[in-house]
Amino acid sequence: MAVYDPKSLKAEEFINDEEIRATLEYAEANKNNVELIDRILEKARPVKKGNGCTCAGLTHREAAVLLACEIPEKIEKMFEIAEEIKLAFYGNRIVIFAPLYLSNYCVNGCLYCPYHLKNKHIARRKLTQEEVKAEVIALQDMGHKRLAIEAGEDPVHNPIEYILDCIHTIYGVHHKNGDIRRVNVNIAATTVENYRKLKEAGIGTYILFQETYHKESYERLHPTGPKHDYNYHTEAMDRAMEGGIDDVGLGVLFGLEMYKYEFTGLIMHAEHLEAVHGVGPHTISVPRVKPADDIDPDEFDNGIDDETFIKIAACIRLAVPYTGMIISTRETAEVRAKMLRVGISQVSGASRTSVGGYTEEERPHDTEQFDVSDQRTLDEVVSWLMDSGHIPSFCTACYRAGRTGDRFMSLCKSGQILNCCHPNALMTLAEYLEDYASPETREKGYAMIRDELKKIPSDKVREIAEQNLKDIRESNRRDFRF
Ligand code: SAM
Repeated sequence: MAVYDPKSLKAEEFINDEEIRATLEYAEANKNNVELIDRILEKARPVKKGNGCTCAGLTHREAAVLLACEIPEKIEKMFEIAEEIKLAFYGNRIVIFAPLYLSNYCVNGCLYCPYHLKNKHIARRKLTQEEVKAEVIALQDMGHKRLAIEAGEDPVHNPIEYILDCIHTIYGVHHKNGDIRRVNVNIAATTVENYRKLKEAGIGTYILFQETYHKESYERLHPTGPKHDYNYHTEAMDRAMEGGIDDVGLGVLFGLEMYKYEFTGLIMHAEHLEAVHGVGPHTISVPRVKPADDIDPDEFDNGIDDETFIKIAACIRLAVPYTGMIISTRETAEVRAKMLRVGISQVSGASRTSVGGYTEEERPHDTEQFDVSDQRTLDEVVSWLMDSGHIPSFCTACYRAGRTGDRFMSLCKSGQILNCCHPNALMTLAEYLEDYASPETREKGYAMIRDELKKIPSDKVREIAEQNLKDIRESNRRDFRF
């Protein structure tokens, strides 16, 4: 029997079934223990330190108690603190990205994904480099600067060389004032050597969803193909970090297994990365299973309602305060709005989940990975974010300035964000307003920039930002950053 050890490199020791079960029992036993809950909430709260703030975060046991608690005023408190943490470390900026589907060829048998090998009626497609270029131009013409590339697992159709070629192509496209400045990668678990190649190709975050932390369910849900190997999949982030990738993104596909089990596994995974590599995950994604070609989410028994979903996000925010949180267009605008309040820091916008979808006039469905709930244009998403007081940010500065891994985390804690990320968000927003926005969004955006500039504490930084904004507007100059 495997023994729990967050520092171990063996999947079954750092994501330990026995420890998860003991945690769930502890949480259930303490879900009405108001004294303990108050202590945990107090621990989670941000505390002022020098110019910045610190947050203690929570252990997986503490976080599980909060998730189990059903007392309405305590849940309200969780939401309040989640928002406080988010404002302390991420401010009111929301980073925007889009997924780019390269290929839906896949040799795996994932029961929830329409790309599975046995699906014979989905159209299979893989972009040529010319098509990648065309897709990137379409994405740049919307205003995107940051992509997450997605592909099925297929050593013949999508080997690592293909993925590397695509990354090279994407970074090489400069259409009008367009530029893709950060490519995050969401591809199947691979070898240290391949992770090293991805790092050398200049990727941002390596993203891999665990899907489920429950080993037995994992094996049942992935009956065939290389992804069937639970340990290989679960240990992927350690190999990625060994290959030199500092920023890794975790995620669970909610709906497959019991959410409390998944949540505990997710927090344990974050603790493991911190314990072994000295830095936790850069991001956590919270996808829910969606309908798709030959996939009916109701076939999985563990769907969660919106309220529980939002509570999960708040508890993640409290447990891992410095980790970015991502929500995709799998969710409706309404759910996304609520999630923004409890800690989300990145959203996708105007996404198409089909291979080659951005160059089609109409949203194509024949190669789509899942139904997109939020189908608004990027301009609509940008405008909507501003209406709710958020600054849409197209910033990609951190990793380009070498602020990855623990260096990003220390910036987060230092209180320098208002002198750094904040002006970067405003400058990239101005680029968007100049090059891609509708007249109404442009007007709204500049009003926001004028107000937000006042919040920059350093006179020197504010003056430089103002000059840069003037150069963006009047001299067509681009890509300033602190
Ligand atoms: N093939 C790679 C892998 O196995 O990790 C890349 C990821 S796939 C293109 C992106 C993610 O989409 C998967 O990890 C899964 O969590 C999610 N996904 C698959 N089917 C889905 C569905 N029906 N609804 C929502 N998300 C889904």
